[in-house]
This record gives sequence, structure tokens and C-alpha cells, in this order.
Amino acid sequence: MSKVMAVNAGSSSLKYKLYDMPEEKVICSGMADKIGHDDAKFILKYNGEKIENTLPILDHTKAVALLLEALTKYGVVDSLDEIECVGHRVVQGGKYFSKSAEFDADTEHKIDILTPLDPLHAQAHLLGYRAFRDALPKVPAIAVFDTAFHQTMTEEDYLFPIPYEYSRDFDCRRYGAHGTSHNYLAIKGEEYGAKRIISCHIGSGSSLAAINNGKCVATSMGLTPLGGVMMGTRTGDMDPSVMDYLATCTGKDVHELYDIFNKKSGFLGVSGISNDTRDVEEADLGGNKQAHIASLLFARRVADYIGSYFVRLGGADLIIFSAGIGENSPYYRELILRDVEEALGLSIDYELNKTVRGKEVMISKPDSKVKVAVIPTDEEVMIARDCYKRIKEGKI
Ligand code: ADP
Repeated sequence: MSKVMAVNAGSSSLKYKLYDMPEEKVICSGMADKIGHDDAKFILKYNGEKIENTLPILDHTKAVALLLEALTKYGVVDSLDEIECVGHRVVQGGKYFSKSAEFDADTEHKIDILTPLDPLHAQAHLLGYRAFRDALPKVPAIAVFDTAFHQTMTEEDYLFPIPYEYSRDFDCRRYGAHGTSHNYLAIKGEEYGAKRIISCHIGSGSSLAAINNGKCVATSMGLTPLGGVMMGTRTGDMDPSVMDYLATCTGKDVHELYDIFNKKSGFLGVSGISNDTRDVEEADLGGNKQAHIASLLFARRVADYIGSYFVRLGGADLIIFSAGIGENSPYYRELILRDVEEALGLSIDYELNKTVRGKEVMISKPDSKVKVAVIPTDEEVMIARDCYKRIKEGKI
């Protein structure tokens, strides 16, 4: 048995799960939240109990120190030497990484120079990595990239129709995101005998992927996670001239508008209520018109991508719904499926759909031309699997 730690470091949070591999058993999990504040939280879930402390956690180094201290203090491990590998989630791997990589000085450098492509996360990932490296200098680390799974796309799927030298000189192209989740869903989909899979990872950030024989052929997010379908606060795809036109109308500059497209649009912007679909759905069902149009707009965008990927794959064997909305919202699943069912020959058990929250269930009927399933995603276990693979191969 090998113990490996899956880590997801954000700018003010650090989530972790300790696994026993290859059993994929979660030994403990938790997070440090509000890092940088005096009233930060440290949470450890172990043996059915939740230990929660509010205290100052001023940086990632402190968060990691608290975690390692807690592991021995609460008897999760007898010694920190039991941890054989730490796997870090990294959002942007750019053109450099088509699979997970050993987290060494070279990987660190590449993630650093990719910061302009992911200003929100890149430096936070590095803070998380350095904190673990300094605290556990003998324990090897790997980086698992959200973009890696999408590196199998071909040029006609990943290039933008801009002057070619911009793509060539600035690596300006589609990278996608949520690749670790889409990869997990592709593996789950294969358990149903599906070769052509449309996976819908729809949560506060949303993306779809077209997967053929386990490989991604197209995905909806673009250069950054702003592209693709409408999301909690992001626009998704738009006519690029919206930027110029709104700059003229509002007097705001490109950076302000870019920020609005990222943080104040999507469900939040259209509904004027919330970025959380639980609130928007409630308002929609209560008769709020703006909430209703936000719901329809979202469903239409997702449906359009499903249609496009159905064509891209030459048909589909399985459509998967996953992530916060996909796993938990019968309402949005139904809105989306009603939009595509006729064209795709779907037959959906909508009564069953209403009962499905957070569990794996086939919601299509046996006569459906394409199967439709709800499958909870698990990005952390993919990180743990990559750690274990490397241990087994003796690469680290
Ligand atoms: P993240 O992108 O942060 O990982 P998640 O995949 O966890 O996000 O999705 C979070 C979003 O999922 C919430 O903002 C909300 O819109 C939606 N969501 C979560 N639970 C429910 C639910 N029970 N019903 C409807 N929507 C939900």
C-alpha cells in the first residue's frame, strides 16, 4: 500500500486528500481556507469526524505546516515518511505538458512562464508546490495538468482563425480546461462500452469535451476558461466585437471589460441574482423573468455544443452529466436534454432524472439512440492514480 497526497492549491485555499493506493481509499481530506487572513479555517476530515479550527493562516507554508502537524497529531499517519508522493493540480500546462510530469525545477519554471495564460492560478499552484517541497524535501512531487488531456486535439480543433503568426509566436490557441475531470469521465464512460462520449462538466465553471476512443478531439474552453458555454460568472463564447462595442458604449477599457466577462457575467450577469444555479433556479421557478432567460440561455449554449460534438464524433454512444450542476440539478439537465432530444433520438426517463443527485445513474431509457448518464466526477483520484503510477514505474 502506498500513501499519496492529492493537492489543489488556489490563491486563498489549499484542498487536500490523502489516499491509500492502489485501493483508492480516501484516508483523510480537508482544506485550509481564507489563507492570508487572521480568521482562516483549517479543516481535517478523518474517521468520520470533522476537525475545524479558525486561526491565522498567513501563507501556504503555514497551511502545509498545519496539515502535516495534524496528520501525526490525530494519528492519520505514524510518520510523515509514509507519504510517498504529492500530486499537485495545475490548471495550465500550455504546449509543454501532454501528461503529468515530475514537479522539478524545470516544471516549476514552465508553469511560471505560463502565468499570463492563467494569472488566477499559476502562482498559487507554485506556492502550494514550494510549501510541500520545503516541508517534505525527500518526498517526490508530480504536477497534473487540467489542459493535458486536451493536447490530443488537432490543429483544426485548437487553432483560432487569427493571423497564423499570432498562434505560432504567442502560442495563442485553444487549450481547454477540466481535462482531468473529462479524462476521469472518459474512463467511466468506457465501463458502459462507450467509444464516442460527450462529457458535460457543468459546475460554476463549465466545459464540454468530445472524446473518441479515450482521446479528446474537441473541447469548449479556449485559450483560458473564459471560452465555451455560459458559466456562473463567465460569458463563454461571444462575438469578439462585443469587446470593442462595449468599450465604446461604456468608456471602460479592455481590462475592465475582460474582468466583467470573467466575474460579473454568465448566470450572475444575466439573472442579476446569483452565480449559483440553486438561487437562479429558485427565482426562475418563482416567476423571475431574468432568471428564466438565464436558465434558457445556459441550456441552449450547452445544447448547441452537444449538437456540435455529436457531429464532430460522427454520432455519440454516451452523454455524461457531471460537476455541480450536472450531478445535482435535474432542472438544468432536463432543460438541456429537451433541447437536443429530438435531433439526437434521445429517450429520457425524466421522472428518474428528477430523483438523481450526486450519484451515478443512467437516465436514458433502453430505446434511447444515445445513452445519457449522470456520473460524479473525481479529479483527485486521477491525481492519486498518476502519483501511484509513477511510484510503481519507479520513475520517482
Ligand atoms: P467548481 O467549478 O467550483 O468546482 P462545482 O462543480 O462544485 O464548481 O459547481 C458548483 C456549482 O454547481 C454551484 O455554483 C451551483 O451553481 C451548482 N450546484 C451545486 N449544487 C447544486 C444543486 N443541488 N442544485 C443545483 N445546482 C447546484
